[in-house]
Amino acid sequence: MGGFEKGTVYILGAGASHGESLAPIEVAESQEPTNPPLATGFFSESLLSRLGSVGIFEERLKQVIAYVKLHWGIKESLGLGMWNELSLEQVLSNVENDLEFIAHESRNWIHRLEIKIELIGHIHAVIGASTHHKYGELSRRLAQSLSTEDSILCFNWDLLLDQELLSKERPQQYEGFLKCLEIGSPGKPPAKYLWRNGLFLKPHGSLNWFRCSNPSCPTHRSFVVKRKIQTCLEWAKNPQYKLCANCGEKMFALIVPPIAHKRITQDNVIRHIWGLARTKLRFAKKLVLIGYSLPRSDFYSEWLLRSSTTHLSRDTILVVNPSNDPDAAEHSNFASRMRELFPRGFNSDLRTFAEIDKIIAWASA
Ligand SMILES: [Zn+2]
Repeated sequence: MGGFEKGTVYILGAGASHGESLAPIEVAESQEPTNPPLATGFFSESLLSRLGSVGIFEERLKQVIAYVKLHWGIKESLGLGMWNELSLEQVLSNVENDLEFIAHESRNWIHRLEIKIELIGHIHAVIGASTHHKYGELSRRLAQSLSTEDSILCFNWDLLLDQELLSKERPQQYEGFLKCLEIGSPGKPPAKYLWRNGLFLKPHGSLNWFRCSNPSCPTHRSFVVKRKIQTCLEWAKNPQYKLCANCGEKMFALIVPPIAHKRITQDNVIRHIWGLARTKLRFAKKLVLIGYSLPRSDFYSEWLLRSSTTHLSRDTILVVNPSNDPDAAEHSNFASRMRELFPRGFNSDLRTFAEIDKIIAWASA
């Protein structure tokens, strides 16, 4: 690309939120921090009992439990045995695929839709309970270090970074993203936001983006951003619906399961965000991946990285992951996947988000 590269692009995955150092916003809050889980931690007994009790979730997830027992052959009760390895993303993607192939509006289709609603409710409840009244010290450090040209691609649904980037001192990345989504609106040329500004992009959606469930409502095709993050988390914790200001029908958070390819290409908003992410990556001077493990089945993210980072190499790609440790169980799998993805090499010296100061120093060197 030669000379047009600007800024660092940070990619954050579930490992970043899982390894975040959560702190209470108000000192009076005495609750123990419960970090957002990895995709495989949403059904574990330890998490469910910390958030209330397994019994409460057995009641709330009745249809999910029956579906998983049937399709994954899990015999144990919720929270035990194989439930501790089950990926929520995989279950959600399975349901999304069913919805594509089962006759629409049939009894089976409605059943799958109910399962999907239970799963999304569960994501809300877990992330809401994990992060309500809290902020991420590491996310805050990262947000404060950003230069105007740096971008963040956050693959997580939680709102730790949103909370930091929506604060008054650091508006450019969030506002830049909102301006870029206005492409096509008269009198609002997005070019300067796309080319001069860093962007904050969430390719899998966010718990503070709401879309109306009524297909004939204007907000059904786009979405509404709720800026009060703590209010969103409060809603998420105690399942409540936000109602559409245009038509009064229920609004749902706009989140996309990572493996549901059709949702990515067919949804205007999500497709646009992936396009912006690709542009930012193609013109990145440096790339930092934090806690992002790229599941084998996530072809879309793999394509995104492979197709847009050919100008980067060992000196300009930093992969921060616990699996960089040669003694880690996942090490050899992880290392070979990263070598396939970045054949010109990458730096694997750092392992956790907690090394944020070294990460920032590497990016700004
Ligand atoms: Zn509406």
